[in-house]
This record gives sequence, structure tokens and C-alpha cells, in this order.
Amino acid sequence: MQTSAEDEPHSPGQRADKGRGAVLVTGGAGYIGSHILKAVEESGRPAVAFDDLSHGFLEACAWGELVQGDVRDTAALISAIERHDAVAVIHMAGLIEVGRSTVRPDLFWDQNVQGTASVLAAMRATAARRLVFSSSAAVYGHDPRGRWSDLLTEESPKDPASPYGDTKLAAERMIAASCAAFGLSAIALRYFNAAGADSSGRLGEAHHPETHLIPLTIQAALGQRGPLTVFGNDFDTPDGTCLRDYIHVADLAGAHVAALDAALEPGEFDAVNVGTGRGRSVFEVIEAVERALDRPVPRTIGARRAGDPPSLVADPSRAAARLGWRPRSSSLDEIVASAARWHAEPLYGDEGSGTPARPSARRA
Ligand code: UDP
Repeated sequence: MQTSAEDEPHSPGQRADKGRGAVLVTGGAGYIGSHILKAVEESGRPAVAFDDLSHGFLEACAWGELVQGDVRDTAALISAIERHDAVAVIHMAGLIEVGRSTVRPDLFWDQNVQGTASVLAAMRATAARRLVFSSSAAVYGHDPRGRWSDLLTEESPKDPASPYGDTKLAAERMIAASCAAFGLSAIALRYFNAAGADSSGRLGEAHHPETHLIPLTIQAALGQRGPLTVFGNDFDTPDGTCLRDYIHVADLAGAHVAALDAALEPGEFDAVNVGTGRGRSVFEVIEAVERALDRPVPRTIGARRAGDPPSLVADPSRAAARLGWRPRSSSLDEIVASAARWHAEPLYGDEGSGTPARPSARRA
């Protein structure tokens, strides 16, 4: 993979502006977290990943430092915040598989809700006053009267279709109440479908197991796994497959930096959608992968997946108004091309290779 000089990770001491406070990124060794570490460092702030490496990868902490720890361990969080003089926390650590949340809701409430309580307690005990929380479009409910062309605003009904969505909504509400009670300020970013990979070739998507459409489609085309199963083609949408709002992970990372900079009063909480406003169908994703790789995607049509609403597309206008943020690299072709480059030659997390996250001397 090619890298350019400006994509080289910073070594400690080379940061652009040491005057801006450090940011602790829980879950920083994960897919989205790793891209956030880079964006935070490029904004001139030291980035410190706090991650237990249960799902993340050491190699994903190419920008910033790593503190290994469990987010429910409040004392460890306090120590990491104090040692690095962090003034803000981006809280990403948590469980994300919607399907698994239906069979092990206990784990999701423990990690996602108890984990957030621990982060809030650590912030109250330290000088970290700004929180950016990794939330999800899963907080919205499916409106049976809705049409596929409807966009979700932050005021759309909240009635999550999964225990995963329940935990994200509960965490948001705990954060809002804690801001009001304890003078913290926070933004919850409700992610739509993060996809794609960093332009450096050093960071990309690596989940075990992989369940997301874009990596699975690319891997099917590359022969790295069997045919893709399209989960239903009889939805009330233009081509019968589900519509989702795919956002390039680098754009999503940029929204976190914008949220660190947002003007918020002490005690203030806001929730903001991070999407493009444009829905793409499963068949459109398959066509984009075929264009990017110039080869067919082997696929079969299967049954609907439980809990999949026909359409989840953001109204992104509050992100523009509140954060001054707009997507820059989120055309479907750009997303798919960057993901295809990564999956052709992933640096870590290859499911076939069984590369586990391993401890190393880079831990802070
Ligand atoms: N999807 C699919 N086959 C797969 C994985 C996903 O057809 O193997 C569909 C899924 O039903 C949804 C869309 O692709 O409509 C995006 O799914 P993904 O799991 O990537 O993200 P989600 O929208 O569930 O967060």
C-alpha cells in the first residue's frame, strides 16, 4: 500500500500545537476509533486511545498512544485522563452487533450503559469537561406510516428496534442528565452507516465477525468469502432492497473534531445526526463494488434480517448548522473504492489470518 508523507503518523513531540488539550478516545483501537485518533491528532491535539483490545487492534492505534483498560474501570479512566491531561473524552467503547444484542442484552447494558456511567464518573472526578458520545441511528424507531423517502431528523420518534438501540438511547439520556446536573457539556453523534477506509492505507475496517454490507460485498467479489446474501428484495423501496445512508469513516471522524470544537455552554447536551441525506440500496452498493473492482459480486437473495427497517437516511442539516460539518468524501464510489483498496491488502484484522490484538511496547 502506498502512503504519503502527510499520512505518516506523528511521533510523540511532533504535534502541531501542544496548546490544545489531549483527548481520551475510549474504543480508540476499533474501526471508527482508529480514524478518530488520526483526525484528533491532525487537529493539533494529542490523542490517547483507551481500549481493552477485546475487539480492537494494536495496529489500529497508528496515531496517538494506547492505554489498555476496561471502560467500566473508573479508576483506570481517571488515571489515564490525569496522566495525559485530557480535557475531553470521545466515548466510543461498546458492543455494536445488533443481532447479538437480542440474545445477550445483559452484556450490552453492562458495557454500553454501565460503561457510559463509568466515563461520566471519571469526568466528574477530573478536569475533562467535554464529552463526544458515539451514538447511533438505531435510537430511532421504525415509523410504520413512514415512506422510504422520509429523512430522519433528531426529533424523529425514538423507539429502538433492538436492545443495542435501547442501550444507546439510555446512555444518551444519562449523559444529558449528567450534563445538566454536573456542568459537563456533550454532543451525541448519531452515526448512520460508517464505511470506507483511510487514504493512508494504514487504517481500515476489521470486525470479527464481519456483518456489514460493504466489506462483505467486497470480500465476496474478491473471493475472500462465499457469496453475499441480500437480506430481502421485497421492501417498499425503489428496487425492493433496503436503503441506508453510507458515510465515509474519515468524514465521520471529522464530525468528532467538529464536536470537540462546538460552542456549548456548561450543562448543555445536544444530539446530532451524522449522515449524508442520501439513501443507497443494497443493489446500488453491489453495483458500486462491481464498478470499483471490475468483477461480479456473487450473491443470492435471502430472507429479511430481523429488525431491518426499509430505510434509514439522515437529515444532516443540524450537523451543518451546529457543527459546521458536511461530508466531503462520502459519494458511494469514493467509499467503496477506499474500502476495496483496504480489503485487497488489509494490514490487520484479516478474519482468515486470525491475527489477535497483541500487547506491545507501544502501550502508554
Ligand atoms: N445487508 C445484506 N446482506 C448482508 C449484510 C447486510 O443485505 O450480508 C443489508 C442489510 O439488510 C441492510 C444493509 O445491508 O439493509 C446495511 O446493513 P449493515 O449490517 O451494513 O448496516 P446496518 O444498517 O444494519 O447498520
